[in-house]
This record gives sequence, C-alpha cells and structure tokens, in this order.
Amino acid sequence: MGRLQKILIPFLGLVLAFWFYSARENFKPEMLKGKRVIVTGASTGIGEQMAYHLARMGSHILITARTEAKLQKVVERCLELGAASARHISGTMEDTAFAERVVKEAESSLGGLDMLILNHVGTSYFGYFNGDVGHVRKLLEINFLSYVAMTVSALPMLKESEGSIVVVSSMAGKVGFPFTVPYSATKFALDGFFSSLRQEFSIQSINVSITLCILGFIDTESALRAAADLLLVSPAPREECALEILRAGALRRRELYYRYGSTRIPLLLRDWAADLLDYLVRSRYRLDSLARG
Ligand code: NDP
Repeated sequence: MGRLQKILIPFLGLVLAFWFYSARENFKPEMLKGKRVIVTGASTGIGEQMAYHLARMGSHILITARTEAKLQKVVERCLELGAASARHISGTMEDTAFAERVVKEAESSLGGLDMLILNHVGTSYFGYFNGDVGHVRKLLEINFLSYVAMTVSALPMLKESEGSIVVVSSMAGKVGFPFTVPYSATKFALDGFFSSLRQEFSIQSINVSITLCILGFIDTESALRAAADLLLVSPAPREECALEILRAGALRRRELYYRYGSTRIPLLLRDWAADLLDYLVRSRYRLDSLARG
C-alpha cells in the first residue's frame, strides 16, 4: 500500500501538472472573432498592438485615447487587417463622464459588449517622489477611477454577454518600485479594487471574468523614453505582450504575468523575503544615471 502511494501520488501530480499546462495553451484566435471589444489607450503602445491583433482575429473594436489623429490611423489599419468593424472615440479619462460615454458608445454602436480592456495610463514622472499631491490625485483619476467608472457602466452589458474585464497593471502594482511612486499607487489600487470585485462576482455567481495583467518592462515608445537609460533590464516586445493579454482575457485567467520569468518568479519572494525582493528591484536601476538627471 505504502509503495502504491509512493507511485500513485507523484503520478497524479504529473497528470494534474500536464492537465494544467495543456489547458493554458488552449487559446484559439476564433475565440475573439465577432466579439465586441473596447480597448482604452489604443492610440499607441500596447493598446495599439492589441487593436491590431483583435482586428486580425475579426473582432468589433472600439478604441479610445485623447489623440484623434492617431486613433483615426489605428482604425484605418484595423479595417485593413480584417476587423469586423472598427471605430474610435477621443477624450480624456480625467473626466469620469467621458469614461462613461465610451461605454455608452459601445452600447449604441455595437449593441453590447463582450470584453472591456482597460489599458490607458496618464503621464507621470520618473524620479524621486516630489510631494505633489495634486499629481497623485490626477493620476488616480486617470489610472484608477476611470477604470472603476467604465466597469460600473459596462457591467450590465458584460453580465448579459458573460463577458470579460481585462485590467492592464504592472509589477509596480504588486511590489514597491522606486521612482514611480504615484504610478505605483494607482496600480496597487487596481489590484485592490478588481481582486475584491472578483471575490464578489464569485459569491454572487456573476459570470464576468476579471484578468489582472502584471507586466514587466515593455518596449513601448513612452516606456523606453522614460526608463531605457535607467533600467538594467531589456524590454519585452509590445506585440507579443499585447497578444498575451488578449489570450489571458479570452481564457478568463485571473492574472497574467508577462514575462513570467521576470515578474511571477521574483514575486514568489514577496511574502517570505520582502527585503531581498526590494533589494533585487533596486538593483535593476542605474542610480548614477538618475542622479545625473
Ligand atoms: P503608452 O504610454 O504607450 O500609451 C498610453 C495610452 O494611454 C495612449 O494611447 C495614450 O494616448 C492614452 N492616454 C494617456 N493619457 C490619457 C488620458 N488622460 N485619457 C485617455 N487616454 C490617455 O503606454 P504603454 O502602452 O506603455 O502601457 C499600456 C499599459 O501597460 C499601461 O496601463 C501601463 O501602465 C502598462 N504597463 C506598461 C509597461 C511598459 O513598460 N510599457 C510596464 C508595465 C505596465 P493619448 O496620449 O492619445 O491620450
């Protein structure tokens, strides 16, 4: 019996591991074909790349950001790539009323919503916290409160479609990062809000998935401009990152870690060796570059 247990338990472990990992690879682009999707912050960067992937998969896309001309170009490219439909609405997420208007636009033009991808991020500085409380408040409005407002407005449609909410966050929303204090605060807020909401959905049997995306350094223009000289890590490609986000959303995963090795693995230290993790985070910066400004 003891011998049987010795063989059986590792065998069951292997079967479970195989099942778990093969289930992870189950994504098919057809899953998003014909789906009605909002992507915020899609005039550039990761959001723009998500729009192009969705277009190739044949989704109905509504994109938003502030810069009308850039959005127009992204819409044109989406239509060339095969989007079922593509439209845009421009405005600032500093204004909660605008966030709600984007959702109303999806209701009137798409007749519902299957996936809400919250990705936009307001401009902040890279450097020691300068004590500007007004900036923290403004960034919370853009990076956090507009996410909440859009979720509240979209929930009736998402309940009806049994759809998905995808929230783009950062390693800086899971562990304290220096030089991005206001930004980190807004990303931690997202984790608190959406992880708690996921619990309530589970209790209330609301079949709307919430995927929180924990990203490392990605090679978007704005990130490279802000941090390329200061970080000792190489950035991951935005096209691949965008696809991984869509894959995780379509598979209704609770969290995505991209890239896994530089996000999930270090985070394993967080609860047991927090000081070591803090040290490792700090060691990724060229502090002399920052001092030179
Ligand atoms: P970008 O800076 O490239 O793009 C940000 C987008 O948000 C743009 O479309 C911008 O368009 C829009 N935006 C900015 N301000 C506002 C505003 N006030 N109202 C409405 N839209 C606004 O960002 P990334 O692609 O690099 O990042 C995308 C997401 O990934 C963010 O949530 C970010 O925190 C996260 N992330 C990125 C990392 C990276 O290294 N790149 C690392 C970790 C997380 P416009 O200016 O036209 O309004």
